[in-house]
Amino acid sequence: MTIRSGLVDAIGRTPLIRLRQASELTGCAILGKAEFMNPGQSVKDRAALWIIEDAVRRGELKPGGVIVEGTAGNTGIGLALVANALGYRTVIVIPDTQSDEKKQMLRLAGAELVEVPAVPYKDPNNYVKLSGRLAEELAKTEPNGAIWANQFDNVANRQAHIDGTGPEIWNDLDGKVDGFVSAVGTGGTLAGTGMALKARSKDVKIALADPPGAALYSYYTTGELKAEGSSITEGIGQGRITANLEDAPVDFAYRIPDAEAVQIAFDLLEHEGLCLGGSSGVNVAGAIRLARELGPGHTIVTILCDYGTRYQSKLFNPEFLRSKALPAPAWLEKPGTVDL
Ligand code: PMP
Repeated sequence: MTIRSGLVDAIGRTPLIRLRQASELTGCAILGKAEFMNPGQSVKDRAALWIIEDAVRRGELKPGGVIVEGTAGNTGIGLALVANALGYRTVIVIPDTQSDEKKQMLRLAGAELVEVPAVPYKDPNNYVKLSGRLAEELAKTEPNGAIWANQFDNVANRQAHIDGTGPEIWNDLDGKVDGFVSAVGTGGTLAGTGMALKARSKDVKIALADPPGAALYSYYTTGELKAEGSSITEGIGQGRITANLEDAPVDFAYRIPDAEAVQIAFDLLEHEGLCLGGSSGVNVAGAIRLARELGPGHTIVTILCDYGTRYQSKLFNPEFLRSKALPAPAWLEKPGTVDL
């Protein structure tokens, strides 16, 4: 057994889990990288740590300093936990559409929360832009200074996956990996892991899985950024080419309807005991499509992004699902009443 020296050392080195139903359905080995096993229960712990360490190295983040970020929640949770471990404070700007569970976790971890109405990126009051301005203001007044984590355009984010996620996948599989699939929030996971795998073998296929309402499926298939529809998934769905996405090696792109993603999330919990958020459903749906594209016998890796209890009031709430015209499985109506 290896002892991790603290929270920071407990981030990463997550296991690959074989997804039984997806593998049986396709004749491929479909493997999920269990990012929900990070201490903050999401893939974003990696980006949070890399961004903080990079800011410290560059002399921008000083002891006791404040880290400001606009986030759908998971990056904020990662930042808040790492900040507690290393002696910083966090101010988190979050759109009011994100789940209460994530907001509660942020408060519990000591983040100062600024909830703002969800408006498009082009609006000056968009949560990302607001967080940038807030960081500038706080840098002037905070005794130990303040930085903006800027996860969308700070490439220390994707570096976490170039240094960590990608090499971990390659090494765990002794290079026997044929494809990698990921949805995009900032693009750090897709671009960074994709770059790390392509650098080791040009034959590894990289695929984007995009929810409705995002513009990247259209970008990678037609060259035009165009969005249609909306999605209940959180933390993913990008409308522009962030700095993290620049030069991302994308071979295939798939658009995944919510009904398909949520059904996969329900099946993973009911039949495989894996309790995951909606973006993991999008990812596994994308992995199934890439498996069909490549044919049986291939090994395809995707990301199990975060833990499902974060979405009990939404993805796992029949009333919420009905309000979005999405199917709710019978067992979700009365959880805990299974006939044995
Ligand atoms: N899934 C969830 C639940 C997330 O919070 C995020 C990050 N916002 C992602 C997927 C996508 O990760 P990335 O930012 O690396 O594209």
